[in-house]
Amino acid sequence: MNPKINIIEAKTIFTKSGLPGSDRVINPYNGCLFGCMYCYAAQIARWKHPEEEWGTYLDVKMNAPELLKKELSNLKKRLGTKNFGSVFFSSVTDPYVGPEATYRLTRKCLEVLADFGYGGEIAIQTKSPLVTRDIDILQRLKRVSVGFTVTTLDDRVSRFMEVKAPPVSSRIQALKELHAKGIRTYAFVGPILPYFTNSDRKIRALLEKLKAAGVKEVWFEHINLNSKIKSRLFSFLKKESPKLIPEFEKADTTEYREKLDGIIHLAVRELGLHMAFGKIIYHKELPKKKLR
Ligand code: SF4
Repeated sequence: MNPKINIIEAKTIFTKSGLPGSDRVINPYNGCLFGCMYCYAAQIARWKHPEEEWGTYLDVKMNAPELLKKELSNLKKRLGTKNFGSVFFSSVTDPYVGPEATYRLTRKCLEVLADFGYGGEIAIQTKSPLVTRDIDILQRLKRVSVGFTVTTLDDRVSRFMEVKAPPVSSRIQALKELHAKGIRTYAFVGPILPYFTNSDRKIRALLEKLKAAGVKEVWFEHINLNSKIKSRLFSFLKKESPKLIPEFEKADTTEYREKLDGIIHLAVRELGLHMAFGKIIYHKELPKKKLR
């Protein structure tokens, strides 16, 4: 089935954020065609599309770059600075979801920030190597980092859990390319996949691969199995691989998380990597604040 693409006009784009480490978020799209089975945004961002399945629709905010330019200019007039804090691309979509190749909204928003001389930290997180298309703009930004979500080293697992996202091998390749071009990179290992990526051996193998790709900073996040995420994820597992359900259920205990915390902290330290926030993120509940 072809995804449903809706062209829309956004009312705001440079939105205040409740996410750890981010003051503002930019979401050039609403919805995400990668359709990951553990996606928390599937619950937050679908309020405009309550009847549609996550991964089947995308709202394209065609006016995002012009709106961003206007909002930055208004803030500058009001606050007299070019730094309004750290900016995150994106909280409820992937900024390099497939149609970005055509619409180029993320690229144009980055161009707006570069032309403005934005002074704050900009973090871009994606699962798509399409971000390498924009290296020329990234090199013009004062403070930027690009993070790739890497939850496994196995393309079969990424295809299974992150259904339509580019395979993880292409993400590692993109991390190498960005590093070689002087762009600061990081890896987001989230969620830490039960069964697939939860042993000392697999965590170390993953970290070694990331380090070899030039990554110095890693973000880890425990799987969030709140009722809405669990309902969607477990319906999928029930259909595709029911034997995994007890493995995922086990992951929702303090004992499991504490054991994993010990393994990860030791591996990160021994490999000389930096753990973002100094801890493994764990969201039990969905953020209260709507992020867009
Ligand atoms: S790429 Fe991110 S926003 Fe898109 S479906 Fe996957 S987890 Fe959700």
